[in-house]
Parts: sequence; C-alpha cells; structure tokens
Amino acid sequence: ADVAEVVRTHLRDIPDFPTPGVVFKDFTPLIADGPAMKTLVMDIAGRYAGRVDVVVGIEARGFILGAAVAYELGLGMVPIRKAGKLPGQTLKESYSLEYGHAEIEVHTDAFEPGQRVLIIDDVLATGGTAEATAALVERAGAHVTAIEVVLELAFLGGRRRLGGRDVNAILTV
Ligand code: IMP
Repeated sequence: ADVAEVVRTHLRDIPDFPTPGVVFKDFTPLIADGPAMKTLVMDIAGRYAGRVDVVVGIEARGFILGAAVAYELGLGMVPIRKAGKLPGQTLKESYSLEYGHAEIEVHTDAFEPGQRVLIIDDVLATGGTAEATAALVERAGAHVTAIEVVLELAFLGGRRRLGGRDVNAILTV
C-alpha cells in the first residue's frame, strides 16, 4: 500500500483540541494498527539506512516512531524532552509558541562528536519544535542529516522556518 495513503486513512481529526478552533491530528489509530505502523516504519528506515548513526525522537509521539525506526535500523535513539524531565546534565532551547513559549532539552553527552542524526516527529506545524531540536543536536556536537515527519501542515510554514535543512514529510496537507 502507498504509505501516504496508509497514514491518511489512519489519522483522525479531533476538533477543538487542545483549544477551541484547533483541529488536532490524532495519531493513536495509526500507532494502534500493526500493519500500518510496519509500513510506516519500513518506509522511513529505508530512506536512511547507511546515512545516519543515531535517531532523535521528540517527546512524546516522536519517541514511539523514533524508537521503532531506530530498532529497525539497528541504531540507538536519543530523546529530546520537555524541560525538567531528563535526569542528567542538559542543554536547553526555548522557542515561542502561538501563545507563550516552550523549552526542550537534550543530555549534554547524548552524542559522539560528528554523529549523523535523523530527527523524527509526528507533526511539522510551525517548525518551532523541529528548529529548536536541530539547534540542540548541533550544540551537543552532532550533525543533523535530515528531519522526518509523518504529517506536515504546510499552511503553517514550518519548512520555510527550517531553511535549507533536508525535511521529509510522508503526508502533506
Ligand atoms: P510546531 O513546533 O509548531 O511545528 O509543532 C509541532 C509539535 O507540536 C510536534 O511535536 C507535534 O507533536 C505537536 N503538534 C502540533 N500540531 C499537532 C497535531 O495536530 N497533532 C499532533 N501533534 C501536533
């Protein structure tokens, strides 16, 4: 099956979540479906085999996807977490959201110098999360090879914000 079609048919729209007027793309039907997840994970892994040394997953759905892809590639996974969750010494990035701001962290010693990193998340919206993640990876001494997302909300301009980075979305709406 075409992977974009598999994704499209396994996401659902939840209106007015987390706030009125927002239509939230819910990934739980996709994650709950074994064959759909297999198709998705094999597609992503096939794109990066031999090109990356470690997978970075962004909390929280990026952990689920990132861990599955890392396992398939025989690689490790490094978590990027909301501030205050990682136990060791961390680097922190702050970025603005539509309302307010967010902070994410990575362990200072998460990477070997120059490691090639694949960043994985579920949704690319404004690109703030992915941009801050790429900055953390680079500050921690590694190289961002590509950013992979399952769904890109193109009207929010995330790809523009990520400048010249290699960004791949399985499904773009
Ligand atoms: P951005 O920083 O504006 O690009 O937002 C991307 C982050 O918000 C990702 O970590 C997503 O998990 C989350 N996100 C934004 N919109 C949605 C959605 O509709 N469904 C699921 N996650 C979303």
